[in-house]
Amino acid sequence: MAPSSTPATPTARPRKARGEGQWALGHREPLNGNERSKKDDNPLNVRARIENIYAKGGFDSIDPADLRGRFRWWGLYTQRKEGIDGGRTAVLEPEELEDKFFMLRVRIDGGALSLDQLRTIAGISREFARDSADITDRQNIQLHWVRIEDVPEIWRRLEAVGLQTTEACGDCPRVVTGSPVAGISVDELVDGTPAIREIIDRYIGDPKYSNLPRKFKTNIGWLADTPYMANDVSFIGVVHPEYGPGFDLWVGGGLSTNPRLAERLGAWVPLAEIPEVWEGVVGIFRDYGYRRLRNRARLKFLLADWGTAKFREILEKEYLGRALIDGPAPELPEKPIDHIGVHKQRDGLNYVGATPVVGRTSGTQLAKLADLVEQHGSRRVRLTPYQKLLVLDVPDDRVESLIGGLRAIDLEARPSSWRRGTMACTGIEYCKLAIVETKKRGEELVSRLEQRLAGFDGDISININGCPNACARTQVADIGLKGQLVMNAAGEQVEGFQVHLGGALGMAKGETAGFGRKVRGLKTTAEELPGYVERLATNYLADRSSAT
Ligand code: SF4
Repeated sequence: MAPSSTPATPTARPRKARGEGQWALGHREPLNGNERSKKDDNPLNVRARIENIYAKGGFDSIDPADLRGRFRWWGLYTQRKEGIDGGRTAVLEPEELEDKFFMLRVRIDGGALSLDQLRTIAGISREFARDSADITDRQNIQLHWVRIEDVPEIWRRLEAVGLQTTEACGDCPRVVTGSPVAGISVDELVDGTPAIREIIDRYIGDPKYSNLPRKFKTNIGWLADTPYMANDVSFIGVVHPEYGPGFDLWVGGGLSTNPRLAERLGAWVPLAEIPEVWEGVVGIFRDYGYRRLRNRARLKFLLADWGTAKFREILEKEYLGRALIDGPAPELPEKPIDHIGVHKQRDGLNYVGATPVVGRTSGTQLAKLADLVEQHGSRRVRLTPYQKLLVLDVPDDRVESLIGGLRAIDLEARPSSWRRGTMACTGIEYCKLAIVETKKRGEELVSRLEQRLAGFDGDISININGCPNACARTQVADIGLKGQLVMNAAGEQVEGFQVHLGGALGMAKGETAGFGRKVRGLKTTAEELPGYVERLATNYLADRSSAT
């Protein structure tokens, strides 16, 4: 057959693969506003401008690119203007949403506070932050109502006692969480604190790692008593049959939208090598992490595409220059450990875990706590990622007196299940992304459930979040609440929650399958929330008794 004279249909030109903005693949040109801002000026440089210009010139002197971008690298976010409802969160411009005051996050790596540090935070809270102080779910303390004029003096006071706000927020290595009982637990074989210290001293504030694709969360601790699997990198204690105690390496966890739990790389890391391996993982994130789209810029997306085998290979070949040692999986707890109550330390003293309500404290309360701690012979306090606090080193004969003293300042070491199990993120009171109120609602919820179901003795965790960002870990609670607008019975849009059920066990065991189920249609208005939880709890109790 003669060849047709009709020209062949032009074949589509192969589409050039669109980069995800990975530096290691040559995509160095910033692909969005955040990347541009970081390239224009290393965010750590903003400190000098705060000290020399903005603190003197006041809020209105601040360059918007610094205000809404680089300030975060020093723990500063503008707080939400009072009175703006959640329905307007998504439609207002940043300048319409923000107040002229700041949230200041103090990073407390490993959650460890000395008495001097506790008193310093309490003093700053009372003098500069309208007595605000919230314990976060990453062992930080957040202050509110901070004026830019006061920030240099706050830094001076914090740094004088060894605290800092450096890289407490921003696209950089955030606070390192760790076991709140590191160094004192009878169950711990190796204290991870030296590795935390070394990472802080060597890498925090280092411009080499201050421009990451997005935030980078780390956890280091022998015990799995933190939500280690919700971190970008995590080291959990394990005994190697040949080499002895060391740490099991997990990478790629992160909740928020598209939640994913961290995965094991099957590698055993001795304590002394944690900082080097940590640097390798953060290096991979910096160089290969996706920067084009903010909502794909966490390490979990890279891990999802690469898989654990490739991730480990790149880590070994390109960053460490050696193979890691294969290691066994650690034993994981059956359920989350919050350390509430009285527990023996390995030196024979005791630690006492107590809880405020949904993490809310105040400078006044922390100052009273410091006095109480000292009166009972201790000089150490720890914060937990469940918004609780521990007093360490308490002699046997001072325990009951301490518990009574804590109760007198509204910190409860023998709390109801409801107070113990409920956490809340910052929410609409201060957070510009929030859709609903969380802290006050959490307090009301606990109070109502304590009245209505006073004798309830189950473990039910309730994590209240003001928006889908899941800062208080929506997906890994028994009852996870994600703030959103919902319809009430009258057909009006009101504050409410999407409900996720049954995620807590999966969290403890590190199983993605254990994420709470987001059941279609499972929503409640905020007003109906207490009744809703009450019904769930009543059904749970009925199920439990019919099963026995
Ligand atoms: Fe703000 Fe949403 Fe995070 Fe709550 S979950 S602190 S509302 S961003």
